[in-house]
Amino acid sequence: MRQKPLVVISACLAGQRTRYNAALIHSQRLIDFLTERFRLFPVCPEVEAGLPVPREPINLHGSPLAPSLIGVQTGADYTFRVTERCLEILDHLEHDPPSGMVLKSRSPTCAAVTPIPVHDTMARPSGQALGVFARLARRRFPDVPVADERILSFSPALDGFARVVGAKAYTEAAPPEENS
Ligand code: SF4
Repeated sequence: MRQKPLVVISACLAGQRTRYNAALIHSQRLIDFLTERFRLFPVCPEVEAGLPVPREPINLHGSPLAPSLIGVQTGADYTFRVTERCLEILDHLEHDPPSGMVLKSRSPTCAAVTPIPVHDTMARPSGQALGVFARLARRRFPDVPVADERILSFSPALDGFARVVGAKAYTEAAPPEENS
């Protein structure tokens, strides 16, 4: 039997206590809907990079083209360690590529649909960017449908997402057509 398509999901959306403030923010309805149809692969690049729960909030700083992950309270630069972990996650996924991604909105690491503010050294807005993991993931898997939990809170969008993810998985599993 063919296995269900793989969907990468932010661990906090999958019910894990990984948020900076240790809050649980998942929607059981979303998890039930997705697990019925897909194999979920939860990732939290921040926690997997060794950041604790709870931890200080992080903002994006610097150039909107390549922003850094900077701690709001200490000014610590988490960019290198989190980016390293993002790349390890994506390398791992090359062996079992995802057919979809559901990533947390408004996160400096996971925001994948709507860009979030980037700040300059004076904490003034200098532009907008996607989260560090989201940007790398979209670049590595450019054809994979991506959504966030805000979009998927609307039933038609959730059904539509499931359809396009299923279609992508089906297309990739189909044997190539032979030339006549
Ligand atoms: S938004 Fe991303 S980095 Fe933040 S807690 Fe959720 S999975 Fe981890």
